Amino acid sequence: MNIRVKDSQLRIAVVGGGIVGTCCALCLQLDGNNVTIIDQNGPGTGCSSGNAGQIVTSYCVPLGLPGIIKQVPRMLMDPLGPLTIRWQYLPYLMPWLLRFVQSSSVERVERIADALYELNKDAVKTFDPLIKLAKAEHLLVAKGRLDVYQSGHEFDKAQYKFNLLRNRGVRVELLNSKQITELEPELNEKCQYGAFCPDVVHTTNPLQLTQLLAKAFQENGGSILREKVNDFQLKSTGVPSIKTNISDHTFDKIVIAAGAFSRPFAAKLGNKVPLDTERGYHVMLPHSGIHLNRTIVHGDRYFGMTPMQEGLRLAGTVELASVNASPNYARADNLLNAAKGVLPSLSDKGATQWMGCRPSMPDSLPVISQSPVHESVFFAFGHGHLGLTAAATTGKIITDLIAERPPHININPFKIDRF
Ligand SMILES: Cc1cc2nc3c(=O)[nH]c(=O)nc-3n(C[C@H](O)[C@H](O)[C@H](O)COP(=O)(O)OP(=O)(O)OC[C@H]3O[C@@H](n4cnc5c(N)ncnc54)[C@H](O)[C@@H]3O)c2cc1C
Repeated sequence: MNIRVKDSQLRIAVVGGGIVGTCCALCLQLDGNNVTIIDQNGPGTGCSSGNAGQIVTSYCVPLGLPGIIKQVPRMLMDPLGPLTIRWQYLPYLMPWLLRFVQSSSVERVERIADALYELNKDAVKTFDPLIKLAKAEHLLVAKGRLDVYQSGHEFDKAQYKFNLLRNRGVRVELLNSKQITELEPELNEKCQYGAFCPDVVHTTNPLQLTQLLAKAFQENGGSILREKVNDFQLKSTGVPSIKTNISDHTFDKIVIAAGAFSRPFAAKLGNKVPLDTERGYHVMLPHSGIHLNRTIVHGDRYFGMTPMQEGLRLAGTVELASVNASPNYARADNLLNAAKGVLPSLSDKGATQWMGCRPSMPDSLPVISQSPVHESVFFAFGHGHLGLTAAATTGKIITDLIAERPPHININPFKIDRF
C-alpha cells in the first residue's frame, strides 16, 4: 500500500495510541499526512490489550436493549453479575444511566442498530490493507464466532438480538447441541443452544496487533511520543496547543482518541460528552488444556472464550464504576467458574487476571466527529464493546473528515453534540 504524496503535508497529533488511535494515525499517514501519536504508555497497552479479540463484522446490537430498566435493581444487588453497578459510583453515573435507559426503547434501538451496522458492515475488509501493511495476517483467524447457551430462557431472550442482526442481513445460524459439539468438541452437552456467526474474525493477540500497526506507522515515518497529555492551551484563533508532562506541542490538526480517558479532553476543548466506562475483566489461561477452533461467547454469562497465542482468554462482563476504582477480581474468578461449567476439563494453572476500561457512550455509539467548536479538532472515542471491530473504519472516517472528503457512511449518529 502506498502513501499518498501531497504538496503540503498536514502535521497531525493523535492523542492516544490504542487500537482506535493507531488505526487513525496509520490511515492519516497513508493519506499523506505527517502524523504523531502521543501516548503515555505506548501503543496498544490500554483497553485494547486485554479484549476478547473479536472483529465482529456487521455487529449492531447495543448494550441497552428494551426492558433493560427492569434489570437495574439486579445490577445494583449483584456485584458479580454479568452487568453490575458499583453503589458508590451511582450518583456520579446517574446522567449516563438515564441516557442509557432512554436509548433502550424499541424505536431507538432500531436506529442505533442501523448506525452500528453501517459502521461495522465492512470491518474486516477495511482492516485488511492495514493488516497487510503491518504484516499481521498471522494474528487473524477467520472461523466465525459461536454463541452457546445452557439456558433455554436466555436463548429465547437472545432471539431479539439475533433478529436485530438478521433483519440487517447478518448471517446467524441457530444450532442444536449436536451441531455445537461438531463445531467445538470440547464443549459439554450442557450447551444446548447455539448461534453461529460465520463472518466474525478473531485476533490471537490484540496487543501485538496494535503494536505491529504502530510499528508499520513508525517505519513509514510516523512519530510516537511517550508523553502524558495534561492539558490544552486554547487560543482565540488557530489550533489549541497540547501540553504534556514533557513539553508543549503545536500541530495543524488534533485527533482525540484517548479511549475512556477522553472526556476531560473533550470538555476542555468545548464539548461535554456523556462518556463513561464499562469496566471489563479477563482471565488468561496459558495451560488451559483445551483446544477451541474459534472464539466462543458464553451466552448465559455474556463473555468471550478466545483461543490466543498465549493461551485461552476468558474476557467480558460489564462493571459500571469509575476509571479510577480498584478492580474487583472476584469478577474474573467468576468468569473462570462459568467457563468450567461448559469446558469441564479446563485447567487454571498459571492463570493471570486483567481489568480494563471500555470507553462507553450511553447509546453504544462511538463519537467519530469533527469538533463543532474548534475546526482543527477531531474526536474518535467511545467505542464501548466494539473498539477493535470499528477501529479501521473509524480511522478511514477521521481521515476523510480531515481531508474534507465526505465519509463513506452517514456520520450524523456519531456526532459529538448529538446529546
Ligand atoms: C473484557 C473486554 C473485552 C472486549 N472484547 C472486544 C472484542 O472482542 N471486540 C471488540 O471490538 N472490542 C472489544 N472490547 C472493546 C475494545 O477493547 C475497546 O473498545 C477498545 O480497546 C478501545 O480502544 P481505544 O483505542 O479507544 O482505547 P484504549 O485502548 O484504552 O487506548 C487509549 C489510549 O490512550 C492513552 N491515554 C489515555 N490518557 C492519556 C493521556 N493523558 N496522555 C496520553 N495518552 C493517554 C492510553 O495510554 C491508551 O493507550 C472489549 C473490551 C473489554 C474490556
